Amino acid sequence: MNIFESALSQIKKAGTSVMIDPDMIARLSVPDKRIHVSIPVQMDDGTVQIFQGYRTQYNNARGPYKGGVRFHPKVDENEVNALALWMTIKCAVANIPLGGAKGGITVDPKRLSQGELERLSRGYSKAMYDLIGPDQDIPAPDVNTNEQIMAWMLDEYENIARHKLPGAFTGKPLALGGSLGREAATGQGGANILRYLAKKKNWTPQETTVAIQGFGNVGYHGARLIQDLGYKVVALSDSRSAIYNEEGLDVSAAHVYKQQTNGLSGFPDARDLKNDELLSLPVSVLIPAALENAINDDNVSNIKASVIIELANGPVSNTADAVLAHNDVMVVPDVLANAGGVIVSYFEWVQNKTQQYWSEDDVHHRLDSLLFDAFEDVWNVSVQHNTSLREAAYIVAIKKIVDALALKHSQR
Ligand code: GLU
Repeated sequence: MNIFESALSQIKKAGTSVMIDPDMIARLSVPDKRIHVSIPVQMDDGTVQIFQGYRTQYNNARGPYKGGVRFHPKVDENEVNALALWMTIKCAVANIPLGGAKGGITVDPKRLSQGELERLSRGYSKAMYDLIGPDQDIPAPDVNTNEQIMAWMLDEYENIARHKLPGAFTGKPLALGGSLGREAATGQGGANILRYLAKKKNWTPQETTVAIQGFGNVGYHGARLIQDLGYKVVALSDSRSAIYNEEGLDVSAAHVYKQQTNGLSGFPDARDLKNDELLSLPVSVLIPAALENAINDDNVSNIKASVIIELANGPVSNTADAVLAHNDVMVVPDVLANAGGVIVSYFEWVQNKTQQYWSEDDVHHRLDSLLFDAFEDVWNVSVQHNTSLREAAYIVAIKKIVDALALKHSQR
């Protein structure tokens, strides 16, 4: 089963359990539009290399398509389709008036110079020009893309359009109409989710230990903010190394160390672990914040955490998910746990449209309010239907999307 097929089976399962019209599930089982472009880029040595770019516009029943653009060597059409479907569900769970999309380029950006990266980013924006825009489809950062890349893409877009359209992209730098609080938003949302969950479970921060896989934008801000709330972050990892101290790590010091040494290995006051060992630590909460399928058939039986909060998209495979449920490990699904990013993207888009800019405090309060309501909705549905939080999140989302679809199409 490829990753898109796994994502589809989540929809089908939720649809069957609450008896959604099978025609509607069939409708939601195919993306609206799949775009695949070739992007020629002049390399620094004078040669031209052709990169493959994708954008899947999955569903826009509830609002313009929305979702990030990923730069990674493993990007392909199935992955982009799955990620676009998850965005559709995520925006509906978060109750923001947006549909779902995702894009990507098959590339290892670490092998490109700044100039090559800029030309590639501009090439993507140019190739997608007709299909994106503030009321059409709004890209944002994802794995290996950031505010600088959004700035290049937006500049290219506005140059072609010949007018200012800051709402065509989110996750922009502040100087170009970005929102305060956007950069840390996914991590902030993850920290909020842990806070809501701890309340349900009567956990105190001091006795709650957390291990985080992935130390990019999401993992770093998540770890920092979770530590700020008083929780003990005992383990961190990046793609090459992992570190552990059962008394707790200093997340900010680890971040500085990673910037200086380009890794985490050898961090003072911690023990180095093999990368995969982080997943099997005896912690209260395990937070995968890297890529898909981190927790899979091979390692699921080693998991000792009592809760998993998915800050990455799709970090638990379907079969691993079933094993975790059987072992009573609670999983807070990606479509809820990492929705903080797209929620603040939505705020950015609203600020661009109204040309009124909000304080960071205001952004935090609004994020907390939307995410808390989403968490409560999902929690209550899971209690009511006796399902996992993932299935509950899909039930919440699919009902909203299907309602919107039904209102539009009397003939469907
Ligand atoms: N890439 C992020 C996600 O997967 C954010 C998407 C957005 O802001 O549009 O949720």
